[in-house]
Amino acid sequence: MRIDIVTLFPGMVEPVVSESILGRARARGLVDIRVVNLRDYAGGKHRITDDYQFGGGGGMVLKPEPLFAAVEALRTPAAHVILTDPRGRRFTQAVAAELAQVSHVILLAGRYEGVDERVSAGLADDVISIGDYVLTGGELPALVVADAVTRLLPGALGAEGAAERESFASGLLEPPQYTRPEDFRGARVPAVLLSGDHPRIARWRRVQALWLTWKHRPDLLAAATLDAADRGWIERFERGETPPTDEAP
Ligand code: SAM
Repeated sequence: MRIDIVTLFPGMVEPVVSESILGRARARGLVDIRVVNLRDYAGGKHRITDDYQFGGGGGMVLKPEPLFAAVEALRTPAAHVILTDPRGRRFTQAVAAELAQVSHVILLAGRYEGVDERVSAGLADDVISIGDYVLTGGELPALVVADAVTRLLPGALGAEGAAERESFASGLLEPPQYTRPEDFRGARVPAVLLSGDHPRIARWRRVQALWLTWKHRPDLLAAATLDAADRGWIERFERGETPPTDEAP
């Protein structure tokens, strides 16, 4: 897969995509992440990329010409062009999984007061928001998308299947995880996780995942695949019961 990140601040992006899982996935050829300087596509002696907005109002707006020129130079027949914008569709794990199937993604990082509307109307195939807050630029959103998508590519994570057990993949939040020591300052690892009884461990994890999702993100339950036992637990939570913390139910 190829991911191009078009930005006015390549120095913000390159170090992140060179480290850790993204850096290794890049080095192993699983993903070809290219950081593209938008200014290289700006014309004129001063390579201007932004200008005042028509109609008044403070702040500068990214001009359409450099963004169109960059995309026209980078585009391949498979390219999916994404503008990062707080007004876009919300980025979720499902959107990450959808984008992981695309062979070429071009991410456009906005800046200043935003981007000339003709970019979302006539250049972008997709407009994505990473959440209901406003950041200073699209570099962090582009990195969020590149990171979440890259770790879904086969072979990007050490353990195959690791991504399938994580939060959102099954429609629920992930259950609690522990490592050594078994006793940390008196807080013990739940005995069930040390039991070696894998069906019991799976039941405990399921109930914990249901509990955490019910408590923190009940909105996710509507779309999750739940069986009769799961629904029974949710009714118990609604009646004020909490799940057993140590033993599998
Ligand atoms: N004036 C715009 C508004 O009110 O919607 C905000 C512009 S923001 C300061 C500058 C750039 O940061 C945007 O063009 C976009 O590329 C990026 N950005 C900021 N917050 C974002 C978010 N939550 N999701 C995606 N991109 C975001």
